[in-house]
Amino acid sequence: CGIFAYLNYNVNRERRYILQVLFNGLRRLEYRGYDSAGISIDDSPSDPNNPQSSSDSLSLLLSPQHLVFRQEGNIESLVKSVYQEVAETELNLEESFSVHAGIAHTRWATHGEPAPRNSHPQTSGPGNEFLVVHNGVITNYQVLKQTLVRHGFTFESDTDTEVIPKLAKYVFDQANEEGDQTVTFSQVVLEVMRHLEGAYALIFKSRHYPNELIACKRGSPLILGVKEISEDSNHGSAFHDDNFLSKNGHPKELFLSSDANAVVEHTKKVLVIEDGEVVHLKDGGVSILKFEEKGKQGGSLSRVASIQR
Ligand code: GLU
Repeated sequence: CGIFAYLNYNVNRERRYILQVLFNGLRRLEYRGYDSAGISIDDSPSDPNNPQSSSDSLSLLLSPQHLVFRQEGNIESLVKSVYQEVAETELNLEESFSVHAGIAHTRWATHGEPAPRNSHPQTSGPGNEFLVVHNGVITNYQVLKQTLVRHGFTFESDTDTEVIPKLAKYVFDQANEEGDQTVTFSQVVLEVMRHLEGAYALIFKSRHYPNELIACKRGSPLILGVKEISEDSNHGSAFHDDNFLSKNGHPKELFLSSDANAVVEHTKKVLVIEDGEVVHLKDGGVSILKFEEKGKQGGSLSRVASIQR
């Protein structure tokens, strides 16, 4: 029942540190209830100056790969199993990432028993092209699932959530098949939101959009935290858009969370995200877009704020 994300931009962080931030975020959200937990991190640093083309047809060869760890039980059993797997796979905890986006989840099951396959992140399928952590309930998941199965998707969990990453992959693949190789992450998520009914706070991570995160919400809580690195600007309690403005490429850490109490140990600059808002973290910038419902014709995104770099 809690979602959390940590994105470091132009500041070197070791894998060990990234894991600690994610685990501590989850520990702070544990009071919201849990029966399982999970995280996703990257297997290797990706070159931000040479991003993968989203038209890459060999999508399964995309780098970085997203590692997914999911575990039944409390946060500490997730922590234990992650470090066990890290040791077994000889994943280097000292490996450093100048930019990296990690996501995390504590689950309070509504659909599907507590089990690793029902834990989040839920995925679009083999290759983990799209990953989603979700707090809430998707009420129309059965009809979405039937449609996606007709389009060839195989479901691995009993959750309502699994339709979301699979829908994202479907939307992305459709756009590319139609020759739109410039479809942005926020356009994909907008199209997904148009189909979702129920309550949700979501964070998306995708191999097609390395080092980017998208979060959106309707009915479940979501907050954004921004920490400028090596600047004495993180202690103000007020949150004005201008406070975010800083030089191009300025190092920062960005946080998304169900509750501010998982972020205040890092920064006091927090913004409460409103229903229908979409937060896009990319290249050290924060864009906040508004999902506008336009009856049955669908929706559109309008920019409400842009906090560039
Ligand atoms: N409905 C989702 C599930 O059962 C999310 C539950 C939650 O908010 O933790 O997996």
